[in-house]
Amino acid sequence: MKLTPFTLHRPGSVGQASRLLADVGDDGAAYCGGTELLLAMKLGLASFRHLVDLKRVDGLRGIEAAGGGVRIGAAATHHEIETSAALRARYPEMAAMISQVANLRVRSVGTLGGNLCFADPHSDPASFLMAVGATLLCQRGEATRRVAAGEFLAGPYQTVLAPGELLVAVELPARAERTGISHLRMKLTERPVVTVTAAVTRTGNAVSAARLIVGSVGSVPFAADTAALAGGPAGFPARAGACAEQAAAGCAPLPGGEASPDYLRHLVAVHARQALGEAFAASS
Ligand SMILES: Cc1cc2nc3c(=O)[nH]c(=O)nc-3n(C[C@H](O)[C@H](O)[C@H](O)COP(=O)(O)OP(=O)(O)OC[C@H]3O[C@@H](n4cnc5c(N)ncnc54)[C@H](O)[C@@H]3O)c2cc1C
Repeated sequence: MKLTPFTLHRPGSVGQASRLLADVGDDGAAYCGGTELLLAMKLGLASFRHLVDLKRVDGLRGIEAAGGGVRIGAAATHHEIETSAALRARYPEMAAMISQVANLRVRSVGTLGGNLCFADPHSDPASFLMAVGATLLCQRGEATRRVAAGEFLAGPYQTVLAPGELLVAVELPARAERTGISHLRMKLTERPVVTVTAAVTRTGNAVSAARLIVGSVGSVPFAADTAALAGGPAGFPARAGACAEQAAAGCAPLPGGEASPDYLRHLVAVHARQALGEAFAASS
């Protein structure tokens, strides 16, 4: 396991980093914590002559309350996120979700941006961010655009980022009142084989909005049909059970995974039912 020689670039701004990457083209890559990229390079799965270090780029850092929601810089580490007071005040479920990622060593250097841009299908944040309706701020040169979390992943290890384009920040929206969120996941070895995030909003006593995102099973997370969840508390467990079964049936597990497709669908049904129940209870 030895890295081939490369030139390390330390840009001072997002625009500069983006232009550097555009200049070096396929010969270069960005990295932040390096927990994915440097490992891939050490294993000989990837090789680059130029690496662009994003860790010290100011525009990518920080976690702050913004517009009723929270803005998380792409270079924020998992550890910074799980311990952020600003995030815990508005989205404590996200801090709890991130605290389950990997181990302290990986969380100390690995970043939210690195997790999303590497686009490993087995990701906790990918499901969670879709469920809460997050937006991803991207920048190429000086041009910026916003991409809905649900449209960022194009497939396993693929995103919609253009060459030279960087993920700058993740924006969590202002949270609707009386919204309960539950993120559940299961792993057999290192990374999750199932991640399920439910978000349920109530008006009066009835469910007025619900999202159920299933991730880590297929190539990208998907939103299950939650239309049948609308209604009051009576009968909610039965409606949630039916919705969870439907979500499980809609999964297309990736071939060659750690568990059989039938077992994964069973795990999805069990976790989805529980997550919906927890989100409903938390929305009262
Ligand atoms: C042992 C282990 C266990 C893990 N367990 C889990 C788990 O339980 N749940 C989970 O969700 N994840 C898990 N992970 C994944 C972990 O979250 C990621 O490894 C980490 O977040 C990657 O961040 P990084 O900064 O190190 O990425 P890097 O390796 O620096 O970068 C990864 C990729 O993203 C690109 N990139 C990075 N930042 C940007 C940016 N701002 N804009 C554009 N491209 C960018 C790089 O070019 C590279 O291709 C695990 C990883 C390991 C090693």
